[in-house]
Amino acid sequence: MNLHHIPDREITERPDAYAGPNLSPRGLRLRPRELAGGVFALMATTPPKDNNGVIAGRDAALVVDAGITPEVARLIQDRVAELTDSPLRYLVNTTYHGDHTFGNAAFGPGTVVVSSRANRDAMTDLDFEKDVRGANMYGDEAILDAVTSWRRPDVVFDGRAEIDLGGRVVELWHFGPGNGPGDTVVHVPDAGVAWTGNLLCHAGIAHMLLQGGPQPYLRTLQAMRQALPDVRTIVPGHGPMGDAATAIDALTAYLERLDDEVASAVRQGLTLDRTIRTCTDPWAQSLDPGLVTALSAYRLPPGTAEAGIRALCQNLHRLNVLATYRLYGGAPA
Ligand SMILES: [Zn+2]
Repeated sequence: MNLHHIPDREITERPDAYAGPNLSPRGLRLRPRELAGGVFALMATTPPKDNNGVIAGRDAALVVDAGITPEVARLIQDRVAELTDSPLRYLVNTTYHGDHTFGNAAFGPGTVVVSSRANRDAMTDLDFEKDVRGANMYGDEAILDAVTSWRRPDVVFDGRAEIDLGGRVVELWHFGPGNGPGDTVVHVPDAGVAWTGNLLCHAGIAHMLLQGGPQPYLRTLQAMRQALPDVRTIVPGHGPMGDAATAIDALTAYLERLDDEVASAVRQGLTLDRTIRTCTDPWAQSLDPGLVTALSAYRLPPGTAEAGIRALCQNLHRLNVLATYRLYGGAPA
């Protein structure tokens, strides 16, 4: 099947007994990891809460993603002040999702918010977005009451843009739809690092096909691989940092199989329940060993991160089957 139409909004239907990622900022801490001089990943100490980044040049600093509330946005700005003397001039949103953009309004007028045009175009309905992301707050929904405005990007780009921070150029790329319509990659060429938002996580983590389906996602990954062959490390929006090529290979294999299996199920007229049971669940038995190693770096009680992430991946996988089934016109439940 070959579908080019990207739905206007992400799918809101969920599989039975679905439990999505916990995005509540309660207890959130962001631990800096310096990847090159002036290039810092800000890693949430509890996965899969949102990671961020700080990239500093001689003249200016840039932040990757804004946090889910004004309070998180201020936490990020405190980190920036500790890590660099360069003034914070840019904030890049990797996606329009509230956990990456609700904090935008808490950055000052001297900070220019930049993202893809498709991301900005998706930032129109704050109430709807708060409802959708509120489903991932696990009892802390009221924290989102602090989000009263949704600052949209001041500057947008289509395929590629460059920001000169002084002695360091940062590239922004939009390769096409993946997790959402506007996924934006922040590439620091001199460091071999890219922030990949929700588009690309550590190999072995389940991704979310919320808007677009497997085939556009595969084309997007292919474009990223061709354009950025020298990226070594990715800092995803959620979960541990990883190796770029390994992550693209793993997600490509997953999407190809998902596409084949769901398309085949729809052709056979299987119900959604049957399709979910028939499609291969890569997380049914265990986690990828490389991912287990990466998760062991979190300072959490032994096995906690592993068990939590594996359960989450199984949920996200069922959602991906559902989303693809609906996209391909599978029979109503
Ligand atoms: Zn996200």
